[in-house]
Amino acid sequence: MTLNSIHSSAAFWGDIALDEDDLRMFKDTNKRVGQTNHTDSGNSSTSTESVSPQRAADRRTLHRLRRAATSRPERVWPDGIIPYVISGNFSGSQRAIFRQAMRHWEKHTCVTFTERTTEESYIVFTYRPCGCCSYVGRRGNGPQAISIGKNCDKFGIVVHELGHVIGFWHEHTRPDRDQHVSIIRDNIQPGQEYNFLKMEPDEVDSLGEVYDFGSIMHYARNTFSRGIFLDTILPRYDINGVRPPIGQRTRLSNGDIAQARKLYKCSKCGDSLQESSGNFSSPGFPNGYTEYAHCVWRISVTPGEKIVLNFTSLDLFRSHLCWYDHVEVRDGFWRKAPLKGRFCGDTLPDSITSTDSQLWIEFRSSSSWVGKGFSAVYEAVCGGEVKRDSGQIQSPNYPDDYQSNKVCVWKITVEEGFDVGLSFQSFDIERHDSCAYDYVEVRDGGSESSPLLGHFCGYDKPDDFKSSSNRLWLKFVSDGSVNKAGFAANFFKEMDECSRPDNGHCQQRCLNTLGSYRCACDPGFELAADRRSCETAACGGFITKLNGSLTTPGWPKEYPPNKNCLWQLVAPIQYRITLVFDVFETEGNDVCKYDYVEVRSGLSSDSKLHGKFCGAEKPEVITSQNNNMRIEFRSDNTVSKRGFKAHFFSDIDECSKENGGCQHECVNTFGSYSCQCRSGFMLHDNKHDCKEAGCDHFVNTVSGTISSPNWPDRYPSKKACTWSLSTTPGHRVKLIFNEIDMEAHLECAYDHLEIYDGRDTRAPSLGRFCGTKKPSPVVSSGNKMFLRFFSDNSVQKRGFEVSYGAECGGSLKAEVKTKDLYSHAQFGDNNYPSGSDCLWVVSAEKGYGVEIIFQVFEIEEEADCGYDYVELYDGADIKSPRLGRYCGSGAPEEVYSAGDAIVLKFHSDDSINKKGFHVRYTSTKFQDTLHASK
Ligand SMILES: [Zn+2]
Repeated sequence: MTLNSIHSSAAFWGDIALDEDDLRMFKDTNKRVGQTNHTDSGNSSTSTESVSPQRAADRRTLHRLRRAATSRPERVWPDGIIPYVISGNFSGSQRAIFRQAMRHWEKHTCVTFTERTTEESYIVFTYRPCGCCSYVGRRGNGPQAISIGKNCDKFGIVVHELGHVIGFWHEHTRPDRDQHVSIIRDNIQPGQEYNFLKMEPDEVDSLGEVYDFGSIMHYARNTFSRGIFLDTILPRYDINGVRPPIGQRTRLSNGDIAQARKLYKCSKCGDSLQESSGNFSSPGFPNGYTEYAHCVWRISVTPGEKIVLNFTSLDLFRSHLCWYDHVEVRDGFWRKAPLKGRFCGDTLPDSITSTDSQLWIEFRSSSSWVGKGFSAVYEAVCGGEVKRDSGQIQSPNYPDDYQSNKVCVWKITVEEGFDVGLSFQSFDIERHDSCAYDYVEVRDGGSESSPLLGHFCGYDKPDDFKSSSNRLWLKFVSDGSVNKAGFAANFFKEMDECSRPDNGHCQQRCLNTLGSYRCACDPGFELAADRRSCETAACGGFITKLNGSLTTPGWPKEYPPNKNCLWQLVAPIQYRITLVFDVFETEGNDVCKYDYVEVRSGLSSDSKLHGKFCGAEKPEVITSQNNNMRIEFRSDNTVSKRGFKAHFFSDIDECSKENGGCQHECVNTFGSYSCQCRSGFMLHDNKHDCKEAGCDHFVNTVSGTISSPNWPDRYPSKKACTWSLSTTPGHRVKLIFNEIDMEAHLECAYDHLEIYDGRDTRAPSLGRFCGTKKPSPVVSSGNKMFLRFFSDNSVQKRGFEVSYGAECGGSLKAEVKTKDLYSHAQFGDNNYPSGSDCLWVVSAEKGYGVEIIFQVFEIEEEADCGYDYVELYDGADIKSPRLGRYCGSGAPEEVYSAGDAIVLKFHSDDSINKKGFHVRYTSTKFQDTLHASK
């Protein structure tokens, strides 16, 4: 049975995939339950994707279904162990969300998620056409999909889908639900009524838990609603005077936890310990324990760490081989992991160190004993010898922030005769130009003196590595400040499959990759469905014409799924190729992980990348850096659009020879070229040479760099230059020094750069800079900044280069004149960025109020505004009363402050970005005057 069988899944019930066994519980298997796309997405019930027109099963056909927790023993995962695989297409942050959701279940129950090795049955995180869906419980006989679609890669939704995997149906389908909730049938989308069917009382395996409004398995009040404001399911009564909220996707409820612990028969005593250090003890410690006690502690720290366990007290009834009362320590995540020791009596065991990041500790008593029992402490230590053929290494505490002052060294050794492959899944480490603070270092061999493969920090994932022997050395260092999420990497034994005589069974080309290999085809061919042989491609090719056009297959109709087209353009030497997209429309937004077009200078897949494009926005004109260009188009197995139509032309690059005769810079244009001069210079009449020029600049782009005249060569003497910077209203100008090298003086009396907090030199100074020590970033208080560079008549150095950008938030003054505030600096040109956290305090003159009017409001929609949102507070800080939290298109049009200030807070998470907002604010002084004059 293959994973694909979720496609051919007999039916879907909401986001639950039903297999033949499930369906047999329906009396009439000929009636198919409606197939639907997912309902647990962030966008909730108003998804517009098509719904198959299959008939909903009527109430009678479903009545044999079992209830909220599965009652079928074969659906419960043995020992609570759920092996998993995360398929290749997910990003580092998505993987981190999956891990956090799995650890959340592990923390509160006794289920264990473990990376699959050889287990026959396991779950695969993947993306399937159903969007977000899963089977209920363990299906058996091979892999089963848990599909996490484009809008549901959120922590709470993944926890919900894992709830299905663990064995839960939806809470509102419980047979006793009519006592607790009302279903409002008139508001249900036509054809979706079956999602609100319930199960019959004689089928109930109640597990004794009461109806749980707070369950993460409960639908929201508008799930499958005809309109977002129409309720489909509502609680029938109040609890503590309020109508209980339903449909939360934040965390497991106490009811969810209790029910799962019963379903998996978790021991009543013990705990899941996930902190990097901790302690635990036998029940009743130090006052003795009762007979027939049974406790399990599972310690699970970050992969890449080991656990050091020390017993601090031990006093158990002594018996031969510790047959009766004992505490057992096992080196792994379950009861059959290798035994480290079984202890009784009162001799303290030696310190125990785990091989991996998990330990299993089990305590049993058969007698009641007046001895103390036991207590133990543990601590996670990172690094060490790792002798395995594959595994995962993460920075301490990943995906939460790593701790300060950590040094971890891993020495990885795989089987003799192989190399070590290392592939980073995610990377987020404090950034510094030379990675002087926090960093990761990789070396080719077994020690600190082995050849350096790389030294990394920042937010870009390093490329994959391969050692030249069976040993690899990996070091992680953090300093005393600024902690980030860190990294996650896989290592594995690596061999070149393509060097085997059978060429990896590839018909044309075999490409070795880390941990695997793949087949490829010559230009004009594409890989057939068997992924090995090549067939003539209906797209792509090797083109040597000087100009022409390209389209996606099927143009102007939609492109087919699973296409991979490769165009390789070659022009004569000294020529450059320019590509212009005339029409562009593919699936996707800025993430570009489904369908996309990739353009490179050069012919190979690792040539210089110009961009990866998707969505509906036409890419800008692209000119190659040399005489080759590579254009690759890929489509996945869902959602096809029209694709693109583009034309290209080649042009001789006059600049490639003797810089086109230009003194400074040469810029090639079609059919010609032009010369440009460095900062502080202008073009001479001969159009090639540069002469000194006035240097007062107006800068109003959102970001860029500014440098001293003649940078990166020495600045001229007796020069004064100014830059007047302004950015989007509501944002501040932030300046970061990339380099500074100016004549040094204690008060910078000679050569210097002075920065002012406003439109000119009359504004307050933010600092005067000289010498070679890079100053900290400088931020203006408003949206304007003024820079003045001055050099005297002696000692010339290289000068400075700074990067400028916009920073959101700050204090704004509401005045009679209406002012603007935008959610992000590139408002109107781009959607707001991920991971924004902005705080604006808008205050008016004492005694007057602030008026805010939303002109545009478009924020990611979610029932509780749990993802992206705007919050308003009626006062000068966020301790003031909250006026509300808003998302979707739901902001109020006008807001008036009670006092003289209003706080506006904007948060965006790491996926789905929208247009943002535009606010106008003003002081009510104007209105008061108006009223007074009436
Ligand atoms: Zn569900």
